[in-house]
Amino acid sequence: MPLNQALSIIHCDLDAFFASVEQRDDPSLRGLPVIIGGSPEARGVVSTCSYEARAFGVRSAMPTAQAYRLCPQGIFLPVNMKKYIEASGQVFEIMAAYSPLIEPLSIDEAFLDITGCNRLFGSAEKIGQSIKERVCHELGLNISVGISCNKFLAKLATELGKPNGLKIITEEEAAGVLAPLPIANLWGVGPKTRQAFERQGILTIGDLQQVNIENLEKQMGSSIRDYWELAHGIDNRRVEPEHEAKSIGRETTFPRDVEDDLFLDSILLTFAEIIGRRLRKAELTAQTVTLKIRYPDFKTLTRSKTISAPSDADMTIYQTGADLFAELRRQNTSRVRLIGLSVGRLQSRSKVCQDSLFQTRVNKPVDEVLDSIKDRFGERIITRAETLLSDNDE
Ligand SMILES: [Mg+2]
Repeated sequence: MPLNQALSIIHCDLDAFFASVEQRDDPSLRGLPVIIGGSPEARGVVSTCSYEARAFGVRSAMPTAQAYRLCPQGIFLPVNMKKYIEASGQVFEIMAAYSPLIEPLSIDEAFLDITGCNRLFGSAEKIGQSIKERVCHELGLNISVGISCNKFLAKLATELGKPNGLKIITEEEAAGVLAPLPIANLWGVGPKTRQAFERQGILTIGDLQQVNIENLEKQMGSSIRDYWELAHGIDNRRVEPEHEAKSIGRETTFPRDVEDDLFLDSILLTFAEIIGRRLRKAELTAQTVTLKIRYPDFKTLTRSKTISAPSDADMTIYQTGADLFAELRRQNTSRVRLIGLSVGRLQSRSKVCQDSLFQTRVNKPVDEVLDSIKDRFGERIITRAETLLSDNDE
């Protein structure tokens, strides 16, 4: 059992993200139950709701019609994904100022490994506090922060501290904090595993801490040991940043299936801008572009294309993705549940010979000007006009 591990992992999660962005941008919505996910007449589900709406029992993934019955005075708004992707990019920029080791979990959630960053920025608590302050002052959003010695405990700290929390769980506190929690709070325990535990009389994490693991392994299989370790606060998974990954990408699942191709196209451009910027910051180029589409029946297609020369240019990534999308659309025009864009076969920019960079040079000055403006004034200040197309009602 590792002892005296430092508080080196920070987990960040924005509070009621989509609803908070809407409340930030329209002050008349503040203090009101805001429910994102379309009108109650549409057969959609709630994507996010404000804490004011949660007080009425409204929850994410609930049918909007049910949310309406619980909270008829609620303000139902459509999902404005373009706006949320932009805000998400700004939050990730702030986090990136504190550590190069960031693992995004979703549009509003990430792990940071701050090992070695303390000399520059102070203690873990200080780093967590300044991320919170910057996200609040610069972006007008609340972010909850959890700090611990590993990923599981850091994420748990965030959950326990919400909303707008800053919670630390030290290694010494871990077993005591975990003991009273239901077994479902262990990472990876879904309804099936929970029932299996319950059949063994294990209802809380504390119950699992007490068992004889060798006996339990005989009954439930050896994979049960991972949960037993988590129950003791042990989690050895590393934070896996994108630049160590073989690809860089973004994807999003829509709360309601989308059929508007123009909207989908503009999402691809937004993703291409985010990906291009990540590549240039990491001084990487990519040689393949992959498009991923999931349909309402969960059928998922991916299509890849090799770019003629390694590139880090937004427009090259976008154009390749858009071509793949157009090709797919010729075969299947059904609604889209998820869209993703990623780049692969990454290599460091210095390894790419000057010749092959020639082809991307046309777009390069534009990207660099955009990057430097964003560096100075923030992500929101400038964007290509086409991405504004996605400000529609889907
Ligand atoms: Mg969140």
